[in-house]
Amino acid sequence: MQYDVIVIGSGPGGYVGAIRCAQLGLKTAIIEKYSTLGGTCLNVGCIPSKALLDSSEHFHNAAHAFADHGIQLSNLKIDWKQMIKRKQEVVDANTSGITFLMKKNKIDVHQGVGSFKDKNTIIVTKADGTKTELTTKNVIIATGSKPSSLPFLPIDKKRIITSTEALTLGEVPKHLVLIGGGVIGLELGSVYARLGAKVSVIEYMDSIIPTMDKGLGRELQKVLTKLGMDFYLGHKVTGATVKGKEVTVTFDTPKGEKGELKGDYCLVAVGRVAYTDGLGLENIGLTVEERGRKITVDEHMETSVKGVYAIGDVVRGAMLAHKAEEEGTLVAELLAGQKPHINYNLIPGVVYTWPEVASVGYTEEQLKEKGTAYKSGQFPFKASGRARASGDLDGFVKVLADATTDEILGVHMIGPRAADMIAEAVIAMEFRASAEDVTRASHAHPTFTEAMREACLAATDKRPIHI
Ligand code: FAD
Repeated sequence: MQYDVIVIGSGPGGYVGAIRCAQLGLKTAIIEKYSTLGGTCLNVGCIPSKALLDSSEHFHNAAHAFADHGIQLSNLKIDWKQMIKRKQEVVDANTSGITFLMKKNKIDVHQGVGSFKDKNTIIVTKADGTKTELTTKNVIIATGSKPSSLPFLPIDKKRIITSTEALTLGEVPKHLVLIGGGVIGLELGSVYARLGAKVSVIEYMDSIIPTMDKGLGRELQKVLTKLGMDFYLGHKVTGATVKGKEVTVTFDTPKGEKGELKGDYCLVAVGRVAYTDGLGLENIGLTVEERGRKITVDEHMETSVKGVYAIGDVVRGAMLAHKAEEEGTLVAELLAGQKPHINYNLIPGVVYTWPEVASVGYTEEQLKEKGTAYKSGQFPFKASGRARASGDLDGFVKVLADATTDEILGVHMIGPRAADMIAEAVIAMEFRASAEDVTRASHAHPTFTEAMREACLAATDKRPIHI
């Protein structure tokens, strides 16, 4: 079979790219080594983690917030098996939805490991060793990433685990020692903290979510500390050993002293590395970068081999599902002769703790470094009527705007439904709106989104209404 495009990998980059190719009339196939489609995101990433975040949040609210609302409960307990079963049902519904979309768009799905024979021939090897050869004009590599580990800290997948095992544990840990204060670790850490586990976070940097605006990290740490999580910032993990059901994690403190924490599980969440194993890149003369093992691409996502593209976690940039989707769409549209463009500065970043954290554009630290003169407006949720009603008083919205033109340069929020609210900021910034523009748009009352308008009022010329 001769294809216009073969996509290797069915994560959000691959399946979205394949659908867009098919929509544009290209004969398309997708190859996936696992039996379910959807990649990391749908199987062991975004979707299962959000399912557990939602379940654990319900439990936490029932235990800690309901009484305040005048709802009395007795005998509240966790049915962990049901929580995990529901998570799997959510995953299954999503992955079978992708199978339906492949059929709907007449995309051929080949199950097996895809590897290059040459740049126009892909071999699909099934689990039983059977091989099929497919020929194509173009290839999109969308093979994603896998959890990275520390060289001196072997993952045994039982007591020393990655995010993948953390989504299917047989029990709620008593004490989870979490290595890494980034997005994935904090989301999973907060799941277990809400369910009653003691969670200790060891982070090498001096703040959590260190790549986001510093104000967000400080506020999130305050909130997660209230939830009962402990933070060991500036601490360098030196090893971990397992004895029976106990894991001992050793570290150097910022003062250079030795320390250790004992728990029943240790979650290593120190980032992810690009995944290219078994692709046969050597057969087309492609090598991976030394750091992060990523495939090098140009601004059109094309590798150094003409007609071979790479997208998503396997290439430079943020490891995010929606970034991968944008890149899949971009390649499809390029192949169809269109002129698409991605503004990487406007890819939002989100942490699905509660309150949620969301951010787009430049941080204050970046603007200072660039020497850009900016104004800042901030609005706390405790001054929002909607947040008062729901009892979500932690957090704020911060808007950074150009000091001269008032153009919005960055929006950083921590608060209820921030993950959804950041879309307003992205749209405003895509259209290069000024802070004043947002203040002129009516925001329904009472909503959390009013905080965005108030922060813009504060940024424009310090005229918020409710503070
Ligand atoms: P992947 O989703 O990794 O898919 C790659 C696919 O390629 C896999 O299915 C793999 O089996 C397949 N494959 C690899 N090699 C071959 C081969 N040779 N042949 C055939 N198939 C192959 N991002 C967000 O934006 N929001 C979130 O809330 C979020 N939460 C996350 C939570 C967790 C716990 C984790 C781990 C990640 C999360 N992410 C989140 C990140 C997100 O999952 C990734 O950025 C995204 O999945 C990347 O998409 P991708 O298409 O590049 O690759």
